[in-house]
Amino acid sequence: MNQSQPLMAITDLKVHFPVTKGLLRRTIGHVKAVDGVSFDILQGETLGLVGESGCGKTTLGRALLKLVPVTDGHVMYRTNSLSGDKAEPRSVDIVELNEKDMKKIRRDIAAIFQDPFSSLNPRMTIADIIGEPLRVHGYPKDGRRDRIADLLKTVGLNPSAMKRYPVEFSGGQRQRIGIARAVALQPSFIMCDEPSSALDVSVQAQVLNLMADLQEKFQLTYLLISHNLAVVEYLGHRIAVMYLGRIVELSEPKALYIQPLHPYTEALLSSIPFPDPEARRKKEPLPGGVPSPINPPPGCHFHPRCKYAQQICQQETPVLQEAGDGRLVACHRWQEIELTGFSFMRNPLSNT
Ligand code: SF4
Repeated sequence: MNQSQPLMAITDLKVHFPVTKGLLRRTIGHVKAVDGVSFDILQGETLGLVGESGCGKTTLGRALLKLVPVTDGHVMYRTNSLSGDKAEPRSVDIVELNEKDMKKIRRDIAAIFQDPFSSLNPRMTIADIIGEPLRVHGYPKDGRRDRIADLLKTVGLNPSAMKRYPVEFSGGQRQRIGIARAVALQPSFIMCDEPSSALDVSVQAQVLNLMADLQEKFQLTYLLISHNLAVVEYLGHRIAVMYLGRIVELSEPKALYIQPLHPYTEALLSSIPFPDPEARRKKEPLPGGVPSPINPPPGCHFHPRCKYAQQICQQETPVLQEAGDGRLVACHRWQEIELTGFSFMRNPLSNT
């Protein structure tokens, strides 16, 4: 597979959760957590996915792994897991796969979760935790111990850790154990859901550096979900910005930071703490909170909070369109308005 080929092609993906009421659990509406999202994740890249809490980014990440029921749309994934290691990779629709085929695909796709304290079973030894995917997917029993020792070394831990329990490790070490478990079966794709946000700042940088090293070593492709723009800037080759169930901008980091095209991206950038205490910068916090995904505003979902909104924004949904240099934006007015970004690239973890 070549570097710029899509490993995953997502088309019009929707995840709507029913809202029920009363004893008969009558459906009275739907939470539109993901509402018609289309984008590609390229082989070998880290695609950062950012947005405020409640924008649907975690649900989107889980939908790609079929960890939540998908309402509509397609997730085409290039793999040879269904046809043998020697076969040419082909595209399969994860949404349509049955349980048996999905189990084969799960060798190839993994997840790293936010909370290293609750994502590891406290009653299992580290050997059992890392060995679980090996056991489930039929890795030879006599080679498992050596494989677990290798994995612990790969993530910077001593193999003697295998006899111990999660409670004996710090947050950063637990996240390393979670990463060892994620790469145990040599996956191609890892969905990383806020992998460093529960950690101290100094440990965050170590975990992100480890992820970058492993990406290079194993040619991994990451979807990196974070509310923290500095984190996605650090690892991301491209960044997708999500607002209320939709992608509103997608771009490589430098262009997105220096010259955002969507007013929501501008607002997110303006909310980042400035690393230079001497520098003064006008902060423009967004008015109000994220509207309810049960009853989102018509037209552009962002219009009630957008200082550039005009009548058309309330009536017509902007489509995600090409904006040159591989950038995508969903805004009626992106060509007319001049937005403010950062004028330099920051030390990415200086103020996380
Ligand atoms: Fe603002 Fe209108 Fe663009 Fe939406 S479409 S971001 S409301 S200018």
